[in-house]
Amino acid sequence: MDSKRNEDQKKDWLKLKRPCWKMVKMNDPKGKSPYEASKKGGTRPYLSLFNKWPSCSCRKDMTFFAQINLSKLPKKIKKATRNDSGILQLFICTNINCHPVGPSTFSRRNCVRIIYPKGKSLRHTPSVKILKSIKITGYTEKVDYPLISEDCVNYDHSENEDMNWMSEHSSNAGDKLSGWPMWTKSPKYPNCPKCNKQMIFIWQQELISMTDYMNSGHTFGDKRRGYIMQCPTHKKVLAIVKQ
Ligand SMILES: [Zn+2]
Ligand SMILES: [Zn+2]
Repeated sequence: MDSKRNEDQKKDWLKLKRPCWKMVKMNDPKGKSPYEASKKGGTRPYLSLFNKWPSCSCRKDMTFFAQINLSKLPKKIKKATRNDSGILQLFICTNINCHPVGPSTFSRRNCVRIIYPKGKSLRHTPSVKILKSIKITGYTEKVDYPLISEDCVNYDHSENEDMNWMSEHSSNAGDKLSGWPMWTKSPKYPNCPKCNKQMIFIWQQELISMTDYMNSGHTFGDKRRGYIMQCPTHKKVLAIVKQ
């Protein structure tokens, strides 16, 4: 590829830059952070009469992975994720006989939802192994670029593939809000089942690092990362893509 074209393509790629926010975490050995706080693991997600602890189609309680209190996010993140209220929660069935990492994005073996807290949370003692409690204490801003596999990237890498440049202009791994997904396989953006619009990536959650803490030894197979997607119009329509 001629170098002028190569440079032009890189310039276009750079224009796709987005901010992302990596989560700052702290161990919470007693797991007693407030019900409405942003957190990973433990037994204290916020629950209401209308949003109880979700159970899977296998009838077992799902495992609580994480929740983000959207109303407490810094302004910039609210703007980037286009969310400013409610608590975003992620539960996944970890029953070893349930194949919780099946391909269906809208599977009943996952629960991704936004709930709007009113008053005291219900309490629930889940009948499943739980994940180690971790508090999310803040967010660090980073810069994300889309991976070369995203449709919007037009880069002819058949010749002169500049690996150094590409690794410096990539997406961040780890738990983060907004930015570009760090896909482990091909990009996959589901469409909203209500309006058929392409859903927007809002949250990346590592799955394997969390399951390392589990006593069950369940490893989630080769699915190590979850990508939470939201319909731009129907904020309550959420999905998780796992890879
Ligand atoms: Zn299940
Ligand atoms: Zn929709």
